Amino acid sequence: MSIAYFPEIYPDELLYSVLARFYLHSGYPIYTMIAEHLFPNTWKKPCIEFVGNLKQEILEIILRDITMEELINKHTMFPYYARFIPKADRLKALESIKNMQSGYMDLLKIPNREPRQLHYCPLCIKEDRQHYGEAYWHRIHQMAGVDVCPIHKCYLKDSGIAIDTFKSSALISIEEMELCTEVIYCNNELENQLAEYIMQIFLEDINMNNEVSVGKFLHGKLNFTKYMAKNGGCRKIQLLYNDFKEFFGDNMRYGITELWQMQCIFMDTRVNLYEICQMAVFLKIPVEEMLNMKLPERTQQMIFDETVRELRAKGLGYNKIGEMLGVSSLTVRKVGKYEQRKPKNYKIPCGSKRRDWEKIDKETLPLVKSAIAELYGDEERRPRKINRNAVCDKLGLNKCIFRCLPQCTKEIAKYSETQEQYWAREIIWAICELEREGKVLSASQIMRVTNMRKDNLIASLPHLKEIEPELAEVVESLL
Ligand SMILES: [Zn+2]
Repeated sequence: MSIAYFPEIYPDELLYSVLARFYLHSGYPIYTMIAEHLFPNTWKKPCIEFVGNLKQEILEIILRDITMEELINKHTMFPYYARFIPKADRLKALESIKNMQSGYMDLLKIPNREPRQLHYCPLCIKEDRQHYGEAYWHRIHQMAGVDVCPIHKCYLKDSGIAIDTFKSSALISIEEMELCTEVIYCNNELENQLAEYIMQIFLEDINMNNEVSVGKFLHGKLNFTKYMAKNGGCRKIQLLYNDFKEFFGDNMRYGITELWQMQCIFMDTRVNLYEICQMAVFLKIPVEEMLNMKLPERTQQMIFDETVRELRAKGLGYNKIGEMLGVSSLTVRKVGKYEQRKPKNYKIPCGSKRRDWEKIDKETLPLVKSAIAELYGDEERRPRKINRNAVCDKLGLNKCIFRCLPQCTKEIAKYSETQEQYWAREIIWAICELEREGKVLSASQIMRVTNMRKDNLIASLPHLKEIEPELAEVVESLL
């Protein structure tokens, strides 16, 4: 076929939109006739958000004035989904789209939400007609979760055209549609601000080689805020989540609604651009920093540890240092002794209809790890024994499903311990608890708060020696 005319691509226009305008202007009476010229598989519906599979001739025409990479970055939704996924997946997904293969869908972790539709803004349509003589489908109106036009701050309209790779309708240009012209402005300042923030992130080029994970970056942004423990060791996620919820209020229709979703973002198991931008707006992170994520050279934890070591070198005791830094003496003792505990996490994606156990196992694993971290306890939270029952209780799961979750079962098994080992951990917590209550440390007080007998204390001593030798000596001297 020789194509005498092919439309110019407009700024921020979806590739799908260009093909739809090509069809509109071509004069072909029915879709199948144009589909034969555009697609190798005419039975396949055109792809709305990405490139899909195009015939070589048509691709060559499109790429006359633009590179394939520019086409993907400036005229598909690739940057919306790819920005915060790991570098290797980002590169693989780009390669897959470039080669017009289909492997990118899994890599981009496109959420299986309720069906979405192409959206338009009545005011952008008006402006486009003035500037270009016709309207077109914009990318900035298709950012999943964003309901307002980031430019005009009015609500977007549903077109009725489903965005679904397999169910999309044929090529329909905006000028063929019956459009709703009513303009309803959004009065929610925060929703407008978020839409604009997301657009600014979406429209900028992705630094394809940046290796910094968004979870670690956001964690770094908590340094020296009230959302980080004083020793920089762990996030105060509940406080963060409560403030976040209060900040956004109850009127956001999308985004983070559960604490575990936030946990998963910190752990890089959830990479939803809308939710990440919500957190960035809440934490007041400038757009430029999100576009070029860097980790702090010196974390709060490093600085805390250094301070403790310096004070120890000056001859100060654990209690004194704890007092000076506003932490318990055990926190001070821990410096340099333990590895940083793994981040924590909560609930559960167990509602899968298809019961894809491998997937459920994988998705549940971070939640199990988080439940374990919580159950494991520390000087402030009473430790519990880690086993399947305890984890299931914590996550509100049915114990039976663990038979189908080998990775999760394995994770729990890592924490199996004898009763004596568990007692040792409980004693550490008890001593801190007594310290907090200002009680005199004695064997009977330890037995009171832990419900242990004296022989239990004695039996746990060898294990206590392994993890906290100094405390073991203290306990021994009390017996
Ligand atoms: Zn608009």
